[in-house]
Amino acid sequence: MDNINYTPASLEINSLNCQELTDFLTGIGEKPFRAKQIYAWLHQKHAASFDDMTDLSKSLRSRLKETCRLTVLKPVQIQTSKLDGTKKYLYALADGNMIESVFMKYKHGNSVCISSQAGCRMGCRFCASAIGGFVRNLTPAEMAEQVYRTSQDTGERISNVVVMGIGEPLDNYDSLLKFIRLITDEQGQNISQRSITVSTCGIVPRIRQLADEKLQITLALSLHAPSQEKRQSLMPAALQYDLAEVLKACDYYFAKTGRRITYEYSLIRGINDSPGDAERLSMLLKGKNCHVNLIPVNPVKERSFMQPDESAAAAFKNKLEKNRINVTIRREMGRDIDGACGQLRKKYL
Ligand code: SAH
Repeated sequence: MDNINYTPASLEINSLNCQELTDFLTGIGEKPFRAKQIYAWLHQKHAASFDDMTDLSKSLRSRLKETCRLTVLKPVQIQTSKLDGTKKYLYALADGNMIESVFMKYKHGNSVCISSQAGCRMGCRFCASAIGGFVRNLTPAEMAEQVYRTSQDTGERISNVVVMGIGEPLDNYDSLLKFIRLITDEQGQNISQRSITVSTCGIVPRIRQLADEKLQITLALSLHAPSQEKRQSLMPAALQYDLAEVLKACDYYFAKTGRRITYEYSLIRGINDSPGDAERLSMLLKGKNCHVNLIPVNPVKERSFMQPDESAAAAFKNKLEKNRINVTIRREMGRDIDGACGQLRKKYL
């Protein structure tokens, strides 16, 4: 029961798994079947209050109100793309902090990109989320709520979840794992593990720990540079873990799970987009069963980074392909509502 403060009044009911909820309810003298009922209200029917749980007695509802809190996110602002239906949500947490989630429609299903922390302490130079610093970790319920409220608002089923919004998920490890177990639970949202992607800047011990959990989720590694020197100049978190160590941890993840790693590489004009960079990247990844996602950097107002022109991005991709590396340039979604992840929140800080 990590990350949950167990003084009764602050028990966050929607961060509990079904067994924990059963233990809690039987502990206050209720029958175990009540736990199944309440769990379904929380994780299938997305109840927004205890009063929504109409098949519970009034007295049980008031007991729950006294002893638990039910975390519900409130959309403060929603931007909808006229081009492709992408929707960007600014959600308020109960304590007034703000986070962002993005809904995207793809041929293979609907996807939600969620935040794992309010703010971030990793400090990547090109990232808007780094600018305001770190505030706090999100709870499992606050992560799951982003999926549920977005599904409710759009009226669509969510089949894919990517943890690529604000924050470093492996810096909030216990809550992340609990969240994954909640949304993949058959008695809840029942999202397949294979449809979940967790993106990290490369916290080596946590990558290894995640590999040992033997989940079937996809790990995305934010690489962004083909050498230790360049990488640490863009990503301060890389000062702590050498590039060779990070890649070894990713190999370990693949060996343990059989899941192909996605390497993310934000192309920044004049910084990491030269033919030499493409060549070095090819050498690093040659022979690995992996996928490279090239992302033209999303310009952030406070930073001077620019996207490469299209021909430079295409040349970079070609060079990787020549070296038989699986590569795509990420299609930009919601171009008209864009603003790099973290910018919407920043306006409210
Ligand atoms: N902390 C995690 C996940 C959040 S960021 C991580 O570092 O992976 C999700 C992805 O977006 C990361 O690959 C991150 O490096 C990238 N990113 C952040 N700001 C960006 C920007 N302005 N343009 C392009 N990619 C960006």
